[in-house]
Amino acid sequence: MTLSLEQIEVKNINGVSAQKQAELHAFGVSTVKDLLEYYPFRYEDYRPRSLSESKHGDKVTVEAKVIGIPVLQRFGGKSRLSCKLVAEPFMFTATWFNRHYVREQLTAGRAVVITGKWDQKRSQISVSDHEFPDRGEGKTGTLQPVYSVGGKITQSWIRKIIKQALEQYGELIPEILPHVILRKYDFMPRKRAIATIHQPEDSREGQQGRRRMVYEELFMFQLKMQAFRVLNRGRQDGVVHTVDNATVRQFVRSLPFELTDAQKHVELEILHDMRSPYNMNRLLQGDVGSGKTVLAAIALYATVRSGFQGALMVPTEILSEQHMRSLTRMFEPFGITVGLLTGSVNGRKRKDLLASLQMGMIDIVVGTHALIQEDVFFRELGLVVTDEQHRFGVNQRGVLRRKGYNPDVLTMTATPIPRTLAISVFGDMDVSTLSERPKGRVPISTYWVKPDLMERVLKFISREIDLGRQAYLICPLIEESEKLDVQNAIDLHIQMSQAFPAYKVGLLHGRMTSAEKDEMMRAFYSNELQLLVSTTVVEVGVDVPNASLMIIMDADRFGLSQLHQLRGRVGRGEHASYCVLVADPKSEIGRERMSAMTDTDDGFEISRRDLELRGPGDFFGTKQSGLPEFRLADMTADFEVLEQARDDVAELLRDSAFWTSPDYTPLRQYLQSQQIFQGELID
Ligand code: ADP
Ligand code: MG
Repeated sequence: MTLSLEQIEVKNINGVSAQKQAELHAFGVSTVKDLLEYYPFRYEDYRPRSLSESKHGDKVTVEAKVIGIPVLQRFGGKSRLSCKLVAEPFMFTATWFNRHYVREQLTAGRAVVITGKWDQKRSQISVSDHEFPDRGEGKTGTLQPVYSVGGKITQSWIRKIIKQALEQYGELIPEILPHVILRKYDFMPRKRAIATIHQPEDSREGQQGRRRMVYEELFMFQLKMQAFRVLNRGRQDGVVHTVDNATVRQFVRSLPFELTDAQKHVELEILHDMRSPYNMNRLLQGDVGSGKTVLAAIALYATVRSGFQGALMVPTEILSEQHMRSLTRMFEPFGITVGLLTGSVNGRKRKDLLASLQMGMIDIVVGTHALIQEDVFFRELGLVVTDEQHRFGVNQRGVLRRKGYNPDVLTMTATPIPRTLAISVFGDMDVSTLSERPKGRVPISTYWVKPDLMERVLKFISREIDLGRQAYLICPLIEESEKLDVQNAIDLHIQMSQAFPAYKVGLLHGRMTSAEKDEMMRAFYSNELQLLVSTTVVEVGVDVPNASLMIIMDADRFGLSQLHQLRGRVGRGEHASYCVLVADPKSEIGRERMSAMTDTDDGFEISRRDLELRGPGDFFGTKQSGLPEFRLADMTADFEVLEQARDDVAELLRDSAFWTSPDYTPLRQYLQSQQIFQGELID
């Protein structure tokens, strides 16, 4: 049996020492397969061009002849060498900086190929690279790949090694796409596609190779998702919830408000899934304030009334406390018990809680990551809900799910994405969307002001507080430094306490203990504090309906979705609410964010703009999102390919030959390697 490329370590490539192997490892490259999939992110164009086709400022490569006498100037430790060259029909001056030794080589009449920036106005090229064809040098005429490198791995070394790897092992690159697909899109064979991405003959060929591999990545991703779904659809071994409509209605009637039409619709979708023997795997997306929590509550109620336990996992302690409070309020009249498990529940208390949970004396547990610790057991877990799902990885959700026997799963997110996109990227989930907010909400007015208007902002704060409302003041975000964030919050808190001696000003940041944070939030809920100075720890989910003013300092530093989340902390009650963005953006993207925020408070529109501004890499690509990162494909730019791949996979899976025909063996092997058949989805 021949080895496959993922079994061959890179040190088997000629020229890769054990030392180099270790250095490559830091780039996520350990096997030949990894190396061959380490694609360049752009190309240097060394193909000769005629200057008459080039524009001022272009980087060009031209074949030229020396016609002048080189002139060397020195100043300080630096030097500048210039020489007249001709590339028919142009005569121009080539200049080299700090490479005085080139002078000797520039003999009259000698052919030279130079690469550099074309200054058309002054007929000059400042040379970045040159070759003498009479020495048989060889970049000219090619596109050179540019890889992401660093440390001891240099660009020229990695080019050489990848070239070597292709020579040694290129023949072992297997085809995995089935013939039907190759024919349908006229794709080149995989071997050639990978080789040509590293060493394109010309850009058209490189494009073709890339087109194929982008498709392949998206196709395999869709295959994994859809096969998982098809296989699990057949399995009727999910929890069957037996709760009847009358029982559910009793609970819904006890709520202090009537469900919106959108909520009613989603309620039906959820209950339908829960009653079926198939596993529910549903994503509920809805803008901030659209009322997702109550749907989680209905689902949790339904699981308890069917004889099971439910778990609600949230990303922060503050949020878990809040959910604990509101669920307890809702469930108390029905004799349903709710427990809280976070990192700060310890000792005796934790032990008791775990015991009650395991014995089934607690119906519902709310908590943070603490829920997925090894020693947490349920008597019979029927439903897992995760709020603000983008904060958790797929794996974390998976761990919680495995604490029961195929419990139903509901995940909720306030970062909505367009429905078609959702279906394509969350291929293994059903998607429900809350498209309207509860009636009677006053829209939030959003203003963008420059920092020199801070005095006016302070006046605005006192006006709102004097009306009986409360305000948040969010400190600037200082990248990579929680310590500075905290310092900022502390300083701002002092300033505000001095500016508003008549009010109680609270402070919230990530370095406080949970008990301290909790106490602060409780005081804010109960209006003992009128102004809360905070870092972004209040970002997700926090619900204080009396708060009507959100002020965000240096707002341009925050991402758009995050700004929208923060803004969503106000406008949650019947009071007119305001969001003030204090910013003097230096960058275009900062200004764009400010205008997006003042233009709209529709979360779907915001996330569309965010996607546009940040690019999908950032939007989806974070490890936290639980979504795959692709090597070549780009979730938005290649969205049409993604849809195409999705449809192709669906068609393929409908054909029973998929499970038997040798043409699909590589695909089935891939699924095997992803443990899809065991009913698990690994990322
Ligand atoms: P999110 O979707 O952001 O999680 P929440 O579930 O926290 O939103 O709901 C926001 C607020 O709206 C809460 O105070 C909640 O009680 C209230 N709410 C939810 N549904 C309705 C409704 N149908 N009518 C009126 N208020 C509602
Ligand atoms: Mg919420």
